[in-house]
Amino acid sequence: MRRIDYHLHTYYSADSKAKPEEHILKAIEEGLEEICFTDHHDCLDGWRLKYEPYFEELLPLKEKYKDQIKVKIGIEIGIDMDGFEESNTTALNAPYDFVIGSIHTINLQDITQDSFYGTMTKDEAHANYFNVILNCVKNIDNFDVLGHLDYARRYGPYENRDIDYAKHQDIIDEIFKTLISKGKGIEINLSGIRRFGQSLPGYDQLKRYYDLGGRIITIGTDSHDTEFVGMHVDKAIEMLQEIGFTEVATFTQRKRDIQ
Ligand SMILES: [Zn+2]
Ligand SMILES: [Zn+2]
Repeated sequence: MRRIDYHLHTYYSADSKAKPEEHILKAIEEGLEEICFTDHHDCLDGWRLKYEPYFEELLPLKEKYKDQIKVKIGIEIGIDMDGFEESNTTALNAPYDFVIGSIHTINLQDITQDSFYGTMTKDEAHANYFNVILNCVKNIDNFDVLGHLDYARRYGPYENRDIDYAKHQDIIDEIFKTLISKGKGIEINLSGIRRFGQSLPGYDQLKRYYDLGGRIITIGTDSHDTEFVGMHVDKAIEMLQEIGFTEVATFTQRKRDIQ
């Protein structure tokens, strides 16, 4: 299984100061075969990707290091039904290799903020979150993999933020089936391992996706700092192989590379 990192942020994202070239050098040092930059674009002021300078900086770097590592240029688009048009068409603005569709906002409200949760109990918040994802993946087409399926477990004003998956499995299964039928995939996001020892999603949901027929999967560290590039990729590969996956997906110009 190829060692890749398909979720990287740089100073083109509002929440990162990392330099693209430093990410590439770290990825080479880590012995990665391929990486993809996926800077943020969300339907909020301050979070829209300025793709012209982004490509202007990344294309020469891709060329400069081509004998050492494959570098792809992608984007992580915030998908939100209240920004339907923008969520659905942003990927068409520039010739991206790969697009992650992620829920960072619901009704254009930032779900990382405690204020978003109001009087919702944790189970209500999680049911709402997964229903919103299902609605988005049904209606929004312009992405290749769904980002960090259970991102909500990182946020909310709850003492214990763990998701009670059994309570939401039907809806999660619908999300997986919708993605599979649309020829889209998921990612194993390693930011959770760094924060609380588990990937997003964890082993059980990855296995569920596989058992339902899901085979398209990417590995991403979601690094906003160079030190995390490539971190825990081997752990991800081990988990994926244990479940039965035989390969990770990579993309060129929005098409899956043939292995
Ligand atoms: Zn994200
Ligand atoms: Zn990200």
